[in-house]
Amino acid sequence: MPNHTDQHSDRTHRNDTHSSKPNGVGRRTALKGLGAAGLGLLGAGALGATRGKEADPAPAPEAQAPARTYAQATRGLPPVTITNVKAIPVYVGGIELVVVKVETDEPGLYGVGDATFRQRAHAVVAAVDEYLDDFARGRKAGHIEDMWQSAYQSSYWRNGPVLNNALSGLDQALWDIKGKRAGMPVYELLGGKSRFAVPGYSHAGGATPEAAAEDALRLVEEGFEHVRIQLGGYGAVNRSQEADFKDAGFGREADNFMDPDPYLDGVPEMFARVREVVGDDIELLHDIHERVEPMDALELLKELEQYDPFFIEDPVSPENNRWFEMIREQTHVPIAMGELYNNPHEWVDPMVNRWFDFIRIHISQIGGITPAMKVARLGEWFNVKTAWHGPGDVAPVGHAANAHIDLAIWNFGIQEAPRISDELREIFPGSPTVEDGYIHINEAPGLGVDVDEELAAKYPLPERHNYDWTQIRRKDGTIVRP
Ligand code: MG
Repeated sequence: MPNHTDQHSDRTHRNDTHSSKPNGVGRRTALKGLGAAGLGLLGAGALGATRGKEADPAPAPEAQAPARTYAQATRGLPPVTITNVKAIPVYVGGIELVVVKVETDEPGLYGVGDATFRQRAHAVVAAVDEYLDDFARGRKAGHIEDMWQSAYQSSYWRNGPVLNNALSGLDQALWDIKGKRAGMPVYELLGGKSRFAVPGYSHAGGATPEAAAEDALRLVEEGFEHVRIQLGGYGAVNRSQEADFKDAGFGREADNFMDPDPYLDGVPEMFARVREVVGDDIELLHDIHERVEPMDALELLKELEQYDPFFIEDPVSPENNRWFEMIREQTHVPIAMGELYNNPHEWVDPMVNRWFDFIRIHISQIGGITPAMKVARLGEWFNVKTAWHGPGDVAPVGHAANAHIDLAIWNFGIQEAPRISDELREIFPGSPTVEDGYIHINEAPGLGVDVDEELAAKYPLPERHNYDWTQIRRKDGTIVRP
């Protein structure tokens, strides 16, 4: 309920703004806003307030009162300003990674975030270095939501993987900075731990059901209780015979051929064999990777019901979102969906209509921790759990961002566990670790992952771009959407 004092304060505030005082809030207004308790604080903290003053060498007289109040609230930490934003590309193990480093006017204080978009890495580097740097310089590092909203709409045409990934790098780096300033891991800023560590699943696979079962057993022995099983690569491309389009010289040499039949016949056989070997207590997952027709996907889902999968991933592509409504009515197999989504309109309807059980978005592809937390909270009200995408084309700091959110939210489902090479661990000190099927972050302030820039510079992006694996064709050469 508004009272006289509040209204008066508002008026004073507006007048001050119009009188173009540097800070916009007069000392009188600030004192009024504090109330009795605040005044007590001000008195008790008069000595402590000098810390704030030291960091701000020549504040305008009008600015002193609110600055002092802020300094008390933040125990002497003045706001920090962004001085530089840059992309740091790294090419290790055949995968293009891009991280973003955000530097500030506080000596030694910076943040690191993940902006990886493997198939268009150079475009993300340009989006960061040519646009986001210019956009963010001089702005306050602490205003994460405002930065996200303003950067998101500043290009007018928004969304899309290049801009979303670039924005994610900035966003994650700002959360990293906020955590470092607070002296807390980011999960603390997101609400604190809801679990002691993050349960993960890892990838097993083989050319035959027997080989897949053997590989699954290896992961169970490593401690995983959740294992994803694949047969002959995504869509069993390795089990497809020589394609007619290849004989005809259509397409490129590197293009893959996928015959849906050996895939659709082989997956239930694989599930049967893996169940025999690992037993009923291990949770099994599988990724259809969107490569079959909706009715074939539905038939496969129904066939797999008997093997009690934990979830089946990406039965159809985002362009086929409406098919989930029908699929949902005909099978009780839990469905995970969404690594390709980059526009909120793609996931909001399926979530609120409960068309799938797990939302599987790629955190850097949707724009970072800020939007991911909103997606997680939205899912809480519809019993949609999270299963953030965690493949090899996520930088270690991106895996850390996944894990910090996983630790904090209630409706966590499962996390695709990172598989980080020793080479990457050297470039990115502090990378998350995996033990007994659980993912651990290192509990350092921020996201806890650094980047060794000198070392990173020794792994430049390649000239030839890596997108051969996404090129799949049917027998006659028609492109398949992965
Ligand atoms: Mg997938």
